[in-house]
Amino acid sequence: MNKISDSILEEIQNCCDIAEIVSGYIPLKKAGRNFKANCPFHHEKTASFVVSPDKQIFHCFGCGAGGDVFSFIMKQERMDFPEAVRFLGEKVGVVVKKEENPSYPQAGSFTGSLYIVNELAEKYFQQNLLKPGDSLAELAMNYLENRGLNKTALECFNLGLAVDKWDGLLNFLQKNGISQELMLKSGLVVKNANGKVFDCFRNRIMFPICNSQGKRIGFGGRIWNTVSGVNSANQPKYINSPETEVYKKSKNLYGFNQSKKFIIDKDYCIVVEGYLDVIVPFEAGIKNIVASCGTAFTSDHARILKRYTHNLVIVFDSDPAGQEATLRSLDLLIEEGLNVKIAKLESGYDPDSYVRKYGGIKFQNLVDNASSLFDYKLNLLCLKLNKLVPEEKAKIAASMLETINKIKDAILRSSYIKKLSESLMVKEELLFSELKKIKSFPTGGVDISKVSIPKIYKMSKVAEKMLMSLMFEDGGFIKDLKQIVDYDEFSDPIAKKIVRHLYEQDLSECNPIELFKQIGDTQINSFICNLLVSDMGIDNKKKSFEDCVRKIKKDKIQLQLDALHQQINRLKQSESQELMSLLKQYNELKKEQNAYETVAKKES
Ligand SMILES: [Zn+2]
Repeated sequence: MNKISDSILEEIQNCCDIAEIVSGYIPLKKAGRNFKANCPFHHEKTASFVVSPDKQIFHCFGCGAGGDVFSFIMKQERMDFPEAVRFLGEKVGVVVKKEENPSYPQAGSFTGSLYIVNELAEKYFQQNLLKPGDSLAELAMNYLENRGLNKTALECFNLGLAVDKWDGLLNFLQKNGISQELMLKSGLVVKNANGKVFDCFRNRIMFPICNSQGKRIGFGGRIWNTVSGVNSANQPKYINSPETEVYKKSKNLYGFNQSKKFIIDKDYCIVVEGYLDVIVPFEAGIKNIVASCGTAFTSDHARILKRYTHNLVIVFDSDPAGQEATLRSLDLLIEEGLNVKIAKLESGYDPDSYVRKYGGIKFQNLVDNASSLFDYKLNLLCLKLNKLVPEEKAKIAASMLETINKIKDAILRSSYIKKLSESLMVKEELLFSELKKIKSFPTGGVDISKVSIPKIYKMSKVAEKMLMSLMFEDGGFIKDLKQIVDYDEFSDPIAKKIVRHLYEQDLSECNPIELFKQIGDTQINSFICNLLVSDMGIDNKKKSFEDCVRKIKKDKIQLQLDALHQQINRLKQSESQELMSLLKQYNELKKEQNAYETVAKKES
């Protein structure tokens, strides 16, 4: 993919005032040189969201969100970077050329045309269903009503009807000027070995499938009418559009377009299997729901949902066959950092039939009481295997450790190990050492038990922040600092990265917008924004600078002293040559540290 050129970015940035863009979404209140608002990205009662028109950035002190105008649009509109650039470009009339991001559909392009064909087809299918006085349409409507679908649901999901004809859609598309080549590419029309061209969907209830932007990309068709002469026994219950350039099964979730905003509101998403499993609960008020129609839930699906929530509740049909296989596939969701729960329906039901029989509230209860993937899997294994038999216990442990191994968060991982240890009555240490054998994620080889964070680290972080704030305000300080403090002497890893960047680029002034572009890391962006909009209360810049440098130097020595102290304690009985040399080092360092203190006292 080609990069969008810097000049285009600059042009767009110059035309977009961040305060103006943000105020299009939330009301801003003037507060000194900045604007304040309640953060759109987390719930809060007092405003901690700050927009700086001078610096053209935003930052939330509550949730840490921050960045420039592109970051804001990415977060607010849930777009990726090229989408946000295009979006803002359109607003200010800056054209971002097609070749600068070939994956993005352009009007008039081939993919753009596929959307149009699907849109036309949807219109055609809908007309068939809503045709007044038509007996087939009436029959289909009755059928849908009997399945518990009302008119609102039909409209919301744009349901339609493919009639029992070979050329219904074919003629409609032809009349609308669609070429045969394009029809074939859309998969809605097919050609047999004899060269005969005909409709792919016949005599089916049609479910249009949209992408997350609401563009039509394909259809699912369900068989319904068994009295119209079609031998339903030979027909699959559902058929779907084939994969096309715009429709990829592994990348699209049914119902997502409709449920997106409810997923954000509730901060979790219910995942089901079929079209009606989405529509029927949706109609009953459970609207944060999507389906992975016709395919297993993939890591692509996970990545799409992750932009909206990290919490999933997967509703399993009660079919026990293959449950374990499905569970194994869910490990990939854990790898994506998602928090996965499982709700199980009673035997013989799917979400559609369950809601029709028991109603939405009972379904919601089931979802509310979903168990974590860990508990669910452990239960399932314990039902199948006897944990009192050593060999079977080992099998359970191995299978559970496979799942635990996928969890990236160290604290979460150890809490699950604890749980597993209690359930299987196996020592935690033993499970940890088993886990080490299958370990595939990078840990950096640090033994957490040996790392303690000294108190002084926290104190020097304030000094580090002040120094950075000074460098942002006055580029002259970058040069001064570079001569006396190495970037490695900064304790905060993010600060270290930024300072290193400033040093290496040999900058004489620091433009935060430039920094965003150059470093482009959300953590760093948020760190910088926080600095820029905080008032560090610096009066005397030169004195603050010197104080902070001394503080950092002193703290660095203290760290060395602590390490030496530990070594000395270990050796204190031996009176060896080594001990003597360590003591000498210790005393010299202590002297050096005192020197910093003396200077500070003289000055104040
Ligand atoms: Zn916030």
